Amino acid sequence: MLAENITRLRQELGHVELVVVSKYRSIDEIKSVYDCGQRKFGENRVQALLERVEALPKDIEWHLIGHLQTNKVKYIAPMISMIQSVDSSRLLDEIDKQAARYKRKIDCLLQCHIAEEETKFGLNRLECIEILDSKPLEKWPHVQIRGLMGMATNTDDTNKIENEFKGLKSLFDELRATYKELNLDTLSMGMSSDYGIAVQQGSTLVRIGSKVFES
Ligand SMILES: *Cc1c(COP(=O)(O)O)cnc(C)c1O
Repeated sequence: MLAENITRLRQELGHVELVVVSKYRSIDEIKSVYDCGQRKFGENRVQALLERVEALPKDIEWHLIGHLQTNKVKYIAPMISMIQSVDSSRLLDEIDKQAARYKRKIDCLLQCHIAEEETKFGLNRLECIEILDSKPLEKWPHVQIRGLMGMATNTDDTNKIENEFKGLKSLFDELRATYKELNLDTLSMGMSSDYGIAVQQGSTLVRIGSKVFES
């Protein structure tokens, strides 16, 4: 079943990157997806991420997709492949500092607030601009800001979801044109319930959990 899910998703996604969200899944379940050739996985909590890193093959690229507290950056700095949930310049300060300790450069996405729900973390357009205006290449030499991540409202209203993704894509295009030197190339939008719409609207990376693991 897992193999079929993965194969079908890969066909559907074409050149769009797939990060399989493994939160709440057992090590065995994740290993089964790994055995289908999948190498990019996403976790939303630092503690769970560390347990999985420990138990699973070392060639997995781990993405953090949940809110990150500055005091936890040090735990993931040695191995994290991408932090998709950056929501402040203070967090970038800490990521840069910890990445430097390990002589690494860590890929990051700015998490943008596009949904109506108040609970969701994220930056607005002006806050993104403020960060990108602050000379990130000089200010955070151990960080590579690669693009944006966003989550649409959890709703059945596909028009609304489409409009939210359209808005994020247009912000991405604007920032890419304004800050050419950053080579922004990643727009992370789309999960199990809405990745079809996200891909239509220009997503370059989807984060999919339930659709992979459920039969
Ligand atoms: C859980 C989660 C996902 C995946 O959700 P599914 O509905 O299981 O595909 C994607 N992105 C974020 C930020 C998540 O927390």
